[in-house]
Order: sequence, then C-alpha cells, then structure tokens
Amino acid sequence: FFSFLTAFLLAYEPAKRLARLNIELNSSLVGAKMLLEIVDSPASEPDDSGKPALQLSEARVELRDVNFGYRPNEPVLSHMSFVTEPGKVTALVGPSGGGKSTVLSLLLRLYEYQSGEILIDGQSIQSVSRRSLRQQTAYVGQDVYLFRDTIRGNIAFGKIGATDEEIIAAAKAASAHDFIMSFPLGYDTPVGEHGTQLSGGQRQRVAIARALVKNAPIILLDEATAALDSESEKLVQAAIDKLCQNRTTIVIAHRLHTIMNADAILVIEGGEIVERGRHDDLLRRDGRYASFFRLQHREATPVLPIAASA
Ligand code: ADP
Ligand code: MG
Repeated sequence: FFSFLTAFLLAYEPAKRLARLNIELNSSLVGAKMLLEIVDSPASEPDDSGKPALQLSEARVELRDVNFGYRPNEPVLSHMSFVTEPGKVTALVGPSGGGKSTVLSLLLRLYEYQSGEILIDGQSIQSVSRRSLRQQTAYVGQDVYLFRDTIRGNIAFGKIGATDEEIIAAAKAASAHDFIMSFPLGYDTPVGEHGTQLSGGQRQRVAIARALVKNAPIILLDEATAALDSESEKLVQAAIDKLCQNRTTIVIAHRLHTIMNADAILVIEGGEIVERGRHDDLLRRDGRYASFFRLQHREATPVLPIAASA
C-alpha cells in the first residue's frame, strides 16, 4: 500500500492520480470530490504552494461575516459569523438546503468565499496553502469512500507512515477492531470492489479510524443519515465521541445525541444562522430549534435513528 501511496503522492498528472485511486464510487459525486480534493488538489485549483503554511496553536475557527454563492447573484450563505472554541463541538442543524455542507466546503477551501473572512487561529484560510489547511483538518462525510485496498491500507491512508500500532489503536478507538478481527484475514482483509463488503456502520467506523490516525486538530463531520441499526449507531456514535475529544469539531448533526451534547448549536436556515445556543437554552427559548427538536422526537421510533434533515 505504501508504494501505492507514494506513487500516488508523487504522480504528477491529476488524471493519473485519479485512475490510481480506484475509489469505490457508490454514491454522490460531491462526497467523492471532497475526498479527492482533500487528499490532493486537482489541477483546477490554482497553485498556492508558495503561500505560508497554516500555523496551528489552539485550533480556533472563526467565520466573520462570510458571504458566498455558487453562482453570481444567488447567495447561499449570508453574513455568516461564528466562533468555535478550541477543542469544543459546534453542531450545525437545520433544514435541508440551508447551507450546512457549504460551510464545511468553504472551510476546506473547496470553494472560495466572496467576502468576509474565515480565520483559523487568526490566519485567513485564503492566505495559507490549501495543503497545510487540509493537513490540519479531518473530514468525515456522509459517504464513506474506501480504496480498493486492505482495511489496514484504508485506515493508514490518514497518515503517511502510520505504524501498525497506530492503526490498531485507531481502529480500537473507532470500535472497529473487533469486527476487523472477526474476518479471517483481519487487517489484511481486502475491501471495496471484489473485496469484503462492509456494512454502512462498519464503513463509517473505518473512516473514523482513518481520521483518528490522521490526528488532525480540526474535525469536520457531515453525519450520516443512513438508517443504521441501533447497535451500529451506538458504535458509530462512540467512535465519533472519541474522534471529537479535545479537537475543534464542527459537526452537521442529524442525530439527537450529538445535538444534545454539543457545546454550541447553530441553527442554519436559508444561509443564515437563525438561532444559537446550547440544547437546553434553545429548548427554553421555544423557537426554531425547539420545534425542530419536537418534530424529531415525534417522528422518532425505537428502531430508527432520529434523522433531522438530509
Ligand atoms: P445543507 O447541507 O444544509 O443541506 P447545502 O450547503 O448542501 O445545504 O446547500 C445549500 C444550497 O446550495 C442549496 O440550495 C443547494 O442546492 C446549493 N448547492 C449546494 N452545493 C452546490 C453546488 N456544488 N453547486 C451549486 N449549488 C449548490
Ligand atoms: Mg448537507
């Protein structure tokens, strides 16, 4: 795998790199783009390797009056401002199409905001190299992409030169070690096309183990809405809790659990933050969040995860 990775990292032409990746594309291309652009910038992104590297100290993320639209005259985010406290969890909630995923795309500089500023530890993300920004950030999306490689290789993708000890520790923390060891080939089990098919929950735990190995101080999480069975959901949630520990986390929350424990909740509708606070405060305020929460509660059944919005 490492020779593959080295070849991939050293390869020059984007088309070749993409061909080498052999990603199992089984759902939306947006998520694939996200992963590809995180592991390596496509040629379409202007070279900014001459810019200084992002210098992390406490990993404080700040959006300051950010405005963005994918197309001219079609604003998607308007005057968005918030600060995430270092090591804390900020949850983004709200109806589909409100702009939550766009916030994460901007943070990864998959798109450039049109005005305002996004700062990490006081540095504008547009003033530092994309590579350094993405090295300090782990993204776990709704769609999990596994490479046609072994489970070990898929987890190791988070960090060049990861040792077996690091890989196993990450898998244990991600509640993945036990199911991996239940396969005859263990960590050497091939996954992806023609390999062992993993369940949705297992795939997510491999992705979380990959993010744990990366050990980035900033975590961006677009939670899965896939209806995991309740046992799998518990394991995934435990893995997410480990991943977020002491890391600045921005999570698009679809599950009640995350919403209730977040240090701050931002309710995003129509590209604006319409409410913010902690779970209890927002319930007491009896506004958008409270009605959103009650709706989830009513729709929740014991066997289904509580899905807020897609
Ligand atoms: P959420 O994650 O809250 O569901 P999104 O950030 O995905 O919302 O989308 C916000 C708005 O931006 C929606 O109107 C959506 O259709 C639009 N949008 C999202 N991604 C793109 C894109 N790549 N190109 C054009 N429009 C987009
Ligand atoms: Mg979204």
